[in-house]
Amino acid sequence: MFQQFKDSSENKHESIAYFTMEIGISHSVPTYSGGLGVLAGDLMKAYADLKIPVVCITLLNEKGYFHQKIDPQGNQIEEPVNWNPSDFMVPLPNIVIINIDGREVKVKAWKYQVHGITGNNLTVYFLDTNIEGNSDYDKTLTSFLYGGDRAYRIAQEMILGIAGVKMLRSLGYNIKKYHMNEGHASLLVIELLKEMQNRELRDPSPNELEKVKSKCIFTTHTPVAAGHDRFDTKLFKTITNNYVPDIMLKKAQHDNQVNMTLFALNYSHYINGVAKRHGQITKKMFRGFHVDSITNGIHPATWISKPFKSMFDKHIPGWPVDPFSLRNALSIKKDDFWNAHQQAKKQLIDQINTRTNSGFELTRFTIGYARRFTEYKRPSLLLHDIDWLKAMAQRVGDIQIVFAGKAHSQDTRGKELIREVFQTAQQINSQNCKIKIAFLENYNIQLAKFLVAGCDVWLNNPQRPYEASGTSGMKAALNGVPQISTLDGWWLEGHIENVTGWSIGPHQQDPEFSNDYDMKDEVKDLYEKLEKVIIPTFYGDRDKWVEIMKHCVAINGSFFNTHRMAEQYISNAYID
Ligand SMILES: *Cc1c(COP(=O)(O)O)cnc(C)c1O
Repeated sequence: MFQQFKDSSENKHESIAYFTMEIGISHSVPTYSGGLGVLAGDLMKAYADLKIPVVCITLLNEKGYFHQKIDPQGNQIEEPVNWNPSDFMVPLPNIVIINIDGREVKVKAWKYQVHGITGNNLTVYFLDTNIEGNSDYDKTLTSFLYGGDRAYRIAQEMILGIAGVKMLRSLGYNIKKYHMNEGHASLLVIELLKEMQNRELRDPSPNELEKVKSKCIFTTHTPVAAGHDRFDTKLFKTITNNYVPDIMLKKAQHDNQVNMTLFALNYSHYINGVAKRHGQITKKMFRGFHVDSITNGIHPATWISKPFKSMFDKHIPGWPVDPFSLRNALSIKKDDFWNAHQQAKKQLIDQINTRTNSGFELTRFTIGYARRFTEYKRPSLLLHDIDWLKAMAQRVGDIQIVFAGKAHSQDTRGKELIREVFQTAQQINSQNCKIKIAFLENYNIQLAKFLVAGCDVWLNNPQRPYEASGTSGMKAALNGVPQISTLDGWWLEGHIENVTGWSIGPHQQDPEFSNDYDMKDEVKDLYEKLEKVIIPTFYGDRDKWVEIMKHCVAINGSFFNTHRMAEQYISNAYID
């Protein structure tokens, strides 16, 4: 099944198709909102590197997600992103037609090539409805990632799942396995069934459903209820033009809503969560399904900073195709490690100072926090007791903190949290104290690269158990940056106290782990570790600090990467 080949456009047989609503493949192709899309992009790069016959289907999102600006009061302003698909991809002549709400909608595709570091290419097809002959409204159906109303979203999921399968046929692909990244792609199941039934409208037989199931794989990405798509049944039936057989619809319904996650779960022979604990939580959320877990990873060649790349190239040749060899980072000289980090840090400090004029300094201890702003991730936790923080800086040394992140346009609480952090930063910076805070606008892949490599410590403090995995801390670890985090998501697997970083709050074996834990206790834990352990080590014990940095690479960088992740998907999910 995994015979290697040079160009997937020449070999369209026995492939795996990966369906995703968003993909973050390059900072200049803004078709992603955050972690989910970046992960999809990283995984496709690993498949390209490993010469696995995978083809990817996604939507064009030609107006992107949004460009974030922050006004002087800290309000998020969302602007459309203008980018030109033809700068990066090639339009194809193929057109497929699907029926949305009784209308015939034409869908075309753009071909984008991911160049693997071993010279192999992988193709991503971006679906597009902005075609002559479609109504003005239908032309916008592939414009906005997570934009529009519920009817718009159902239409987008029809395009991804149904038109996606039709497009693969039109291009001549013979697909063996269909991998749904999140529930957004679940409607592909129906299209596979219709193909099997020669498009007759009748209820599927158990045998037919089993056949469909044997081809489908489903990865779920969040234990947060709002992260699972649900649609009003009546609206769903109208927009899909009663395309989904009633018995299938019934099995995916609860509270008179169609749940797209249930849909995917019902018709997949392999289901996984994205970290060990997330797999267990998913099993509890959706009883009766066998749920495995494959812990996320990041694409090393994408996330390495230039100074670290030079150092690894010199000491561990071949590491980008064999990231497991990063275990050997322990043998690199301390001074080399420290100097490489200083260079990466200088690049970040320069970015911060040019963008915000905050007067950050290279020698000062710098904490980074960047990710989507939303309640459960608790972006303002570190600022909970500013007086304590100020007193701490007096006692143990200067502290610089850099924040970045967008809030979903409908997430009013997320936007409030941006205001809170932004206003606290303004307040603190206007006082003459030993703390400086910067908020950088428009968090994206490019900015993330500076942040994960240039900070001294990466902070992550989600409320348990809502962080399915988290990946930014893995990017930091690859660049020798230790993390301090609540024990949730991947950190339960990557944390060794004082070796790869630090924990906040109870451990898995503590009785209070599965209970709600008081936020104030976690703030206290965070402050006490910063004051008693982390900052004193940073300013006072260089040898110990560099030892921790090396272990981040050797223990976590060598493991939490997409090469390991890709190999697990291949052997656990793709091969029967
Ligand atoms: C890695 C990344 C994320 C995901 O970060 P988490 O730690 O998983 O929240 C989000 N946005 C961008 C731009 C990223 O590069």
